[in-house]
Amino acid sequence: MPIPESEVSWVEEAKLGLWERLYLPAIIEGLKVTLGHMFSRKITEQYPEEEPKLPANYRGVHRLNRDEPTDEERSGSEKGRVKCVACYMCATACPAHCIDIVSAPAPVEWQKAGREKYPETFVIDELRCIYCGMCEEACPVDAIELTTLYDLTGLSREQMVFDKEKLLSVFDITTKAGTDPIRTRSGKLGPASETPVG
Ligand code: SF4
Ligand code: SF4
Repeated sequence: MPIPESEVSWVEEAKLGLWERLYLPAIIEGLKVTLGHMFSRKITEQYPEEEPKLPANYRGVHRLNRDEPTDEERSGSEKGRVKCVACYMCATACPAHCIDIVSAPAPVEWQKAGREKYPETFVIDELRCIYCGMCEEACPVDAIELTTLYDLTGLSREQMVFDKEKLLSVFDITTKAGTDPIRTRSGKLGPASETPVG
């Protein structure tokens, strides 16, 4: 249906003076912007030649932390057990619903040390995650943390769905590299009063 003439507003083309028709104001304005950028602080990083300096609280790829191995375990080259107690707090807090945990009764020797449950499977879909850090905040035992690892890539969606072993290997890599010390520590009131480090 054609638009009625009464609803059409005609816009007059602006008349340019001689000064405007020489385009000098626009050229001067453009030069001002260029010179401003030439002498301002440089903020572009030449990645990947230059590694970015990330803050300690950067939220990159997750890891599942291990607990301290006993002397006996250490002598047998054990790396420590997964710290997670399969309480589902992280999965409940996650706004992207990208954490999937299946809990199971802890092995007998773990139960002797006071552990009732452990995650039989623990999966995070790193492509669905929005890296908000809510899982880390919700965890009562500092078992899940986001690391400064930011350049992990995969060739398929499946490769970016991290299982327990992969999440534990991120712990091994980041602690060995010294890039990500355990991020939280217990406050005076215990795990519930954790305070961020650094
Ligand atoms: S960082 Fe946020 S979105 Fe990602 S797994 Fe944790 S709670 Fe979910
Ligand atoms: S909140 Fe912590 S302990 Fe609980 S399931 Fe998640 S990672 Fe495991």
